[in-house]
Amino acid sequence: MSFDIERIREQFPILQRTVGGKRLIYLDNTATSQTPALVVDNITSLYEHTKANVHRGVHTLSQEATDLQEQTRRKVKDYINAESIEEVIFTRGTTEGINLVASSFGDRFRDGDEIILTVMEHHANIVPWQLLQRHKDIKLRVVDVNDKGELDLEQYKSYFNDRTVLATFTHVSNVLGTVNPVKEMICIAHEHGVPAMVDGAQASPHLKIDVKDLDCDFYAFSSHKMYGPTGVGVLYGRRSLLESMPPYQGGGEMIKHVSFKGTTFADLPFKFEAGTPDFIDIAAFSKALDFLNETGLDSIRTHEEELLRYTTHGLLEIPGIKIYGEAPEKAAVISFNVGDVHNYDIGLLLDKLGVAVRTGHHCAQPLMERFGIPGTVRASFAAYNTQEEADIFIAALRRVAAMF
Ligand code: PLP
Repeated sequence: MSFDIERIREQFPILQRTVGGKRLIYLDNTATSQTPALVVDNITSLYEHTKANVHRGVHTLSQEATDLQEQTRRKVKDYINAESIEEVIFTRGTTEGINLVASSFGDRFRDGDEIILTVMEHHANIVPWQLLQRHKDIKLRVVDVNDKGELDLEQYKSYFNDRTVLATFTHVSNVLGTVNPVKEMICIAHEHGVPAMVDGAQASPHLKIDVKDLDCDFYAFSSHKMYGPTGVGVLYGRRSLLESMPPYQGGGEMIKHVSFKGTTFADLPFKFEAGTPDFIDIAAFSKALDFLNETGLDSIRTHEEELLRYTTHGLLEIPGIKIYGEAPEKAAVISFNVGDVHNYDIGLLLDKLGVAVRTGHHCAQPLMERFGIPGTVRASFAAYNTQEEADIFIAALRRVAAMF
């Protein structure tokens, strides 16, 4: 299918709005992507016609709501090529997926055990492990990056020892855009008998995820970065590991039988889905997957790569600009500073020109420290962004830079 950008843009009503009298140019897709009408309309329709709690009722509405939620689970299973639907756990997002693994898989860790992670992790893949350190004397071994933003794989290899219990790393950096060689990293972990978890928050909107091919043990991602609704995420887990893990939260839905003498837990995946899930948004996530499947991840990636090349080239002509992240394998994320102008000032001025970018530390403070900066401006692209928007962004930044 050819990549018809106008047809894609038409599907996103928000792209019609203006900001400060200027047409919105949304370049904050790494934080969250926009949502096509297909998904928005589906949410409205579900509220209007099918709202009932799932897995609890014999009545028609409840059956329908349950079917829709489980249909999404099947679609996710196919989308990531998981072995079975039991391996697909609905969460609130990547953050909750990682916390689930830290709490539940981390339950088996002992004092002296070691976890390998990287300096480019989002706080979501750092703080849950630090919380574990409050109860257990666990060591975090942090893999560095080079100045281009590529992981030091030799250091990664050297960190494995007989106390290593998990390797956990992001597939794509939300700051540098670096696409990490996760398949190789997982393979190295497995050679040492260590399970590997991948934070897929930034990969899932851009790359084909095949958990079987990657052979990962856990893979977490968020719907809202994939053109889907907020409040929904997925944790993929290898069945044998999930079965051996205790529940994460207790409550309704995750039990077989409750008594004060002792409670037994539901089978997978429900063991990890306590309480009422965000069933409306889970059901509507299915439409976001339809959008991704129909548009085609390969086409999206090619389009975004062109925008990345084009925009990087244009930005580099602006005096004083420094771009962070120059790995050859890079997603369409451009983090930069201009001279010693504060990133916040640049972001505010760009906003006045209708261009939405993110500023600050991007929930990656250790990475900022590594590069010796407090923050950056970050522009990130999605399927609906255009070369014309890139031109306007570059011209706007040139104007802003000239002011300082
Ligand atoms: N991991 C990475 C690499 C991210 O970029 C983000 C969000 O930006 C997260 C985790 C957290 O995702 P969420 O806030 O959807 O849980």
